[in-house]
Amino acid sequence: MKMIDTSQAAKSILRVTEDLIRIHSTADRTDELYHAIQYVADYFSDLPELVIHRYESNNKPSIVISFEETLEPQVMLVGHVDAVPAPDELFEPRYESGRLYARGACDMKSEVAVMMTLMRDFYSASPRPSLALMLTSDEEINGNNGARYLLHDIGYRAKVALVPDGGAEPSRIILKSKGVLHLHIGVRGRAAHGSRPWLGKNAIEDLYALYEQIKTLFPPTDDPEHWHSTCIVGTISGGVATNQIPDFAECGIDIRFTEEHALVDILSKIRAFAPDADIEILSKGHPMFTSRSNQFVMLYEEAVRTLFNVPELQEEITHGATDGRFFAEFGIPVIVSRPVSDDQHSPNEWLDLASLEDFKRLYERAITLFLR
Ligand SMILES: [Zn+2]
Repeated sequence: MKMIDTSQAAKSILRVTEDLIRIHSTADRTDELYHAIQYVADYFSDLPELVIHRYESNNKPSIVISFEETLEPQVMLVGHVDAVPAPDELFEPRYESGRLYARGACDMKSEVAVMMTLMRDFYSASPRPSLALMLTSDEEINGNNGARYLLHDIGYRAKVALVPDGGAEPSRIILKSKGVLHLHIGVRGRAAHGSRPWLGKNAIEDLYALYEQIKTLFPPTDDPEHWHSTCIVGTISGGVATNQIPDFAECGIDIRFTEEHALVDILSKIRAFAPDADIEILSKGHPMFTSRSNQFVMLYEEAVRTLFNVPELQEEITHGATDGRFFAEFGIPVIVSRPVSDDQHSPNEWLDLASLEDFKRLYERAITLFLR
């Protein structure tokens, strides 16, 4: 690539990045979520052969852009235009020492800009690749009306999903994240005076015994990276007086599970332990797991090796999650990586500017290898 092209490419990515950052697209500002999705639609409005579909679910807009009418492109680029809330001044891009600082600098308006400009570039390719860009607006709250809706209700699928929403540099990829299950459990007992326990049924003791049983599903291991399922009790209450057998007790538990467990199995086992308990799902999410030896991971690695002076990919462990989990649920391999960047969700969120264009070249190369 010639120098002049390079700087022009960088400029167009940055122009889109800045525009997106200035849109205060946080979950509490529905208008701005629509504004951001509209910006994306406008950006592509001069490309007549592009297939653009807009969706909304419970006031969360999303958009999918592709080169053909299909729900199943080979490669899906996945991003979100929402950001976590921040003081107004963080919605103004700031440059310092080769870095861009702003809310959304790396999570993930720069990456969205990279993918948008990439779609524009591939539009001029002949033939055009089987590639689509899916942008949602609710990743930071739960993804239910964005990626989950588009996969479960609309029916989008892909052979591989690229999700530039985690990791700290392009060669450090995230291939797995744990599933999450938050439960509220209520147990009924029978009240009696503390001096005559044989007349009652102690709900606190029953709840605690149930919790101990649930814990046996997730035995601790000595894995130093802690890639194992866990279960903790976060809240507990019950009883009204020291001298009274409590007739009710409740707790909130937080389960994080690896690919070794399936969400439905966990739930059915817990329900089998205590058929009479009142069990409510507060939130849930599936784990994400892509094998290190998956063909697309190997091709991504090839792209990293040929473009950067890096001998091999590093795999990072994350205890958070991305929209990639909704693809993983359907067995679609997901590769999560990011330009050199850090401190997302903090006032110092930053992205290395030189890395931005490298990242675009990497994606371009990887996509070309995927579709070869
Ligand atoms: Zn994100």
